[in-house]
Amino acid sequence: MKKWDVIIIETLSRIVSVEAESGEEAKEIVDTRYEQCEIMLNADDHILTEITAEHEGICPLCGAEITYSGNNIIDNNGGIFPWECPACGVHGNESYSRKFSGHLYIKKGKKCTHVYGS
Ligand SMILES: [Zn+2]
Repeated sequence: MKKWDVIIIETLSRIVSVEAESGEEAKEIVDTRYEQCEIMLNADDHILTEITAEHEGICPLCGAEITYSGNNIIDNNGGIFPWECPACGVHGNESYSRKFSGHLYIKKGKKCTHVYGS
């Protein structure tokens, strides 16, 4: 059996009517009211719930094994691994984040006076 990460995404949406000279101004008015918490979306604005199961190496759409392009981008925070699904043709990226898991193979150096177990 595989361990799966099941992601639940809930989408909230509300239409706010304002009077303005342009769409840009209307957006700015609502943006400001939203930033100042005059507009706060809540459970009544819920319009969609998506639940998807993800596992590395498996296409999130069809469940087939994916193929990696090899054009990986790895940095200090983790990495991005581009992939393609040979079954359904979808492209995507797997995202990995770096996680500290402990120090290994600790050896005493010349300047070190500490004792690290046996
Ligand atoms: Zn697929």
